[in-house]
Amino acid sequence: MRAILWLSLLAWPIAFATADQTGGQAQAERFYRAQANLHECPWNRPVQHGDIPDLVDRVYRDEWVRKTFGNPRKPRVGVSEYRDKAYSTGNLIAFPPHGGSTVSVLHEISHQLTGNNGHGKVFAQTMMVLVHRFMGNEATDVLERGYRRHGSPDWIPGGKR
Ligand SMILES: [Zn+2]
Repeated sequence: MRAILWLSLLAWPIAFATADQTGGQAQAERFYRAQANLHECPWNRPVQHGDIPDLVDRVYRDEWVRKTFGNPRKPRVGVSEYRDKAYSTGNLIAFPPHGGSTVSVLHEISHQLTGNNGHGKVFAQTMMVLVHRFMGNEATDVLERGYRRHGSPDWIPGGKR
């Protein structure tokens, strides 16, 4: 099952030609709920602010990422204006002074890879492929359950329903 799912991602760059992100804050909250259990799982690790650039580097140097997302431009890492909130804007991803976590870094990278266009289907699918690549199968299963419970089966890439 999973082999079929991830093989189908080879056709992915095409999907980015169209944006389907709408819904603003309501959609963001829906996504946060769907992602919540991933924060608690043992495959998520805290990342000090000073170590975030290394993780970002690892993701953007990854051969599979470069191929799948068409040599994306690596964002700068900054300090968030908010004490507890990370965000992505332009070519910048920003995290609170204390840092973030594997999940929060992959989340902001997913925004970068989808043109900072909200928390819609393409964003959710992107987050899941990054979680699979950089956190593994068990973490992906946790996220998949969250998507099914609080989000949408459409958020699971490769038409796996
Ligand atoms: Zn977000």
